[in-house]
Amino acid sequence: MVAPDPQTTAENPKKRFQTKILKRRWLSEKTFELECERPVGFDFQAGQNICILYQNTERYYSPVSAPSDTGIALCIRYIKKGLLTPFLADTDIGTPLTLTGPHGYFTYKPSQKTAVFVATGTGIAPFVAMGRSGIKDFILLHGIRTAVDLYYQSFLQPIAAQHVPCISGATKTDPLPKGAFKGKVFDYIKTKLPPQPYDFYLCGRQDMIRDVTLIVDAQFPESRVFTEVFY
Ligand SMILES: Cc1cc2nc3c(=O)[nH]c(=O)nc-3n(C[C@H](O)[C@H](O)[C@H](O)COP(=O)(O)OP(=O)(O)OC[C@H]3O[C@@H](n4cnc5c(N)ncnc54)[C@H](O)[C@@H]3O)c2cc1C
Repeated sequence: MVAPDPQTTAENPKKRFQTKILKRRWLSEKTFELECERPVGFDFQAGQNICILYQNTERYYSPVSAPSDTGIALCIRYIKKGLLTPFLADTDIGTPLTLTGPHGYFTYKPSQKTAVFVATGTGIAPFVAMGRSGIKDFILLHGIRTAVDLYYQSFLQPIAAQHVPCISGATKTDPLPKGAFKGKVFDYIKTKLPPQPYDFYLCGRQDMIRDVTLIVDAQFPESRVFTEVFY
């Protein structure tokens, strides 16, 4: 554990914390999990995010770890020409980092309605943290291009009422895993999800969030929609 740094800035009133990288584990060719030390005094709720400050760059990440875990684990997509992810993918274990947070309100709101968690790619992260903090029996739709990006499936499948990988890039030579849907999460919601009011939690690409919000308005009256745009 490292002591919190009390420094704050006018632009970002949140307290800065010092941490360091403890572990890196590749989940697929382009996605890795990065575990950082949890700074003393840093608390968050599942679904909230942190901001990593590096040189003049600030990037937000939604932990996959439960708030009670000793470290903070992040699921990060490597962006070849990105400003921060190539550094995080390559820098030494032990490298110090500065972070702020927690940020955001994308937390689970208990209700009578079934929760439908909808993610694209690394947008699965807040739902992993929610599952690790005891939330279960949700419907989970994970939109990915190919099955190699089906991270955390073995953890999520047993606690979900339904876990449906929605694979948009599958070809005849790249067969669908059992229980998967060929197409985008939008197509699944439009054609397969039984009509009733739900609590939808949407996380990931903004075009998915826009399209799903439109279909919820059209087909699922009295549902609630909570969103977290990654990019
Ligand atoms: C609230 C919030 C939470 C986020 N949580 C996560 C998270 O848990 N994991 C994560 O990987 N990213 C997350 N992001 C995105 C993250 O903040 C960065 O934008 C991303 O890591 C790229 O940073 P970069 O500096 O390497 O690339 P940049 O130079 O910023 O980005 C280059 C381009 O990469 C694309 N891109 C950005 N993020 C992704 C992504 N996740 N998958 C595919 N393409 C992407 C965009 O088109 C972007 O324009 C989150 C963003 C927000 C706002």
